Amino acid sequence: MTPIRMFDHGAQYKRLRQEILAAIETVFDSGQLIMGSQGRQFEAAFARFLGEPGGCVAVNSGTDALVVALKALGIGPGDEVITVANTAVPTVSAIRIVGAVPVFCDIDPHTCLMDLARLPGLFSHRTRAVVIVHLFGNVLDVAMVQYLIGNRSIQIIEDCAHAHGARSNGKMVGTLGHIGAFSFYPTKILGAYGDAGICFSRDMELCRRMRSIRMYGFTDRYVAEEEGLNSRMDEIQAAILNVKIKYLPEFLQSRRTLAKRYVERLQGIVETVQADRGAEHSYHLFVVRLNYRDKVKDTLAKCGIETAIHYPYPIHLMKAYAFLGYAKGDLPNTEAMAEKILSLPLYPELTLDAVDRVCAELIHALR
Ligand SMILES: *Cc1c(COP(=O)(O)O)cnc(C)c1O
Repeated sequence: MTPIRMFDHGAQYKRLRQEILAAIETVFDSGQLIMGSQGRQFEAAFARFLGEPGGCVAVNSGTDALVVALKALGIGPGDEVITVANTAVPTVSAIRIVGAVPVFCDIDPHTCLMDLARLPGLFSHRTRAVVIVHLFGNVLDVAMVQYLIGNRSIQIIEDCAHAHGARSNGKMVGTLGHIGAFSFYPTKILGAYGDAGICFSRDMELCRRMRSIRMYGFTDRYVAEEEGLNSRMDEIQAAILNVKIKYLPEFLQSRRTLAKRYVERLQGIVETVQADRGAEHSYHLFVVRLNYRDKVKDTLAKCGIETAIHYPYPIHLMKAYAFLGYAKGDLPNTEAMAEKILSLPLYPELTLDAVDRVCAELIHALR
């Protein structure tokens, strides 16, 4: 039996190879390797994809997109930023990089997203931002977050690393708060051939600030208006993304078709992670919840089916963040989820037959 992988770079490269190599050659021929027309073109293309008025600022990674966003909103030492502990570590590293303190909100066990019933209890006079994570491509209700914030001076950043193309009540995520941060890490829904990321904001003044911060804080050449960093997207990655963004609607369609098949095959047998109300899931990951997860994972591996856990360790219990003072039991839903979740193979080039095989083996493993 051919193995079924979580992600297959080769399958896509085979298909897009000609176009990708031509795009890279264009960059090499132009001699413009950083901050050129490819980057600007991609910023415009991604803003068009998001479909809301505003601007995009291309950066070096998803982590940097969050750092640049936090800095542009003036968030720094002493400020509190509310987020979740069931996310990729970079969500939290970004908050720490700017010197702010992460405050963790527990999750809703059904959606695995921030539990909005618990959010208002975490607001303090130091809270300056909420970093929302649209985990797996499932969408948190940003309008409800804004409603709960009310007239407090708290900014909303959306971590959209899993959610390119996901929608909330018809609107693209990343456009719903003050700044949306996206990653183009190779395995993401839109992936570069290396590191890359982008910020979106409807506020052009914020875009101007982010543009300055990503390049040493320059406004004019060699003059820093404020402290910045170096987080430019290089032209090769931008050129590759300019090719791949044309296929993004198709990638999303494939993911949704495959996810629908998973739901059909597993319904009533295996508990899947549900979409929030009004949400159009982007299916970066298809996640199920299992009681004997580790055993099932091993059984599937023996049948040549690769699976993954996103994420196996809640961040509040990691050694690096022990200084924040959290203990086991502080975020019960987050901790319980980490023991049960399993991500099944899902990428645009996967076939329906492969999904059927994963489901059959999974159901078999549960017997
Ligand atoms: C991948 C990811 C990031 C970070 O993106 P990089 O491009 O790897 O820096 C941030 N948040 C989440 C939820 C992610 O999955």
